[in-house]
Amino acid sequence: MDVIFFGAPGAGKGTQAQILRKQYGYRQVSTGDLLREEREKATELGKAAEPYIQRGALVPDDLIVEMVKKNLPPAGSGVIFDGFPRTVAQAEALDHLLQAAGRGLPYAIYFYVPRATLEERLLGRWTNPRTGRVYHERFNPPKRTAVDDDDGGPLIQREDDTPAIVHHRLDVFEKQTMPLIAYYNDSRSRRYLKIDASRPIGTVTAELLHALEATSSPMRTP
Ligand code: ADP
Ligand code: AMP
Repeated sequence: MDVIFFGAPGAGKGTQAQILRKQYGYRQVSTGDLLREEREKATELGKAAEPYIQRGALVPDDLIVEMVKKNLPPAGSGVIFDGFPRTVAQAEALDHLLQAAGRGLPYAIYFYVPRATLEERLLGRWTNPRTGRVYHERFNPPKRTAVDDDDGGPLIQREDDTPAIVHHRLDVFEKQTMPLIAYYNDSRSRRYLKIDASRPIGTVTAELLHALEATSSPMRTP
């Protein structure tokens, strides 16, 4: 089954997606990571997305949906969509895309974290720009400061993880992405779960695994 992780920036979607990918074989489609790769390669898409990313705005829906279409893994392995969809228009496009590919509706999981905690997480985040792996200077530190445990290369602080841009990104989440809660929760024909993602990383992973294992049980009926 395909799964959507949605929630504010800093809610821990990437952290959990990486754990499930490495340990449980899920495929991860992170639109943030894909956009940063496009930027790094200076592609047309990367250049078009750059000003939006820099100011903490959402990249236009048509560019994002096209990028996801190109990067959709083949059916057969469960995909975690991490940071996508972020608008109702993207959610509708994803439903159509998956149905056209003969896949069912995705399981939508909302990561809830209070705003003050999100700010603390984003301002202390360190990222491996080569792999997308994230750390936190207090909550999940690497063994050596600013050095990745896996590849030994440098970690960076993202240029959009600064106080002013974080503030704007959280506002954007509240205005443009929170309507997804109603989109996913109101539909009785799909699975939806809200999790308290303010708890420690291992606790959140355990709850996710429990929920995903239960997906083999019958769907709730209308
Ligand atoms: P998102 O992908 O939702 O933007 P990340 O997975 O990048 O969020 O996490 C944001 C920051 O918070 C990172 O520094 C990460 O190490 C840290 N983090 C993630 N999950 C937790 C958690 N459950 N408790 C404490 N810190 C966390
Ligand atoms: P993230 O790594 O998920 O925090 O995303 C970083 C930035 O990439 C966001 O602030 C947006 O500018 C852009 N972005 C990532 N995913 C999306 C999406 N699904 N829709 C629009 N913009 C996105």
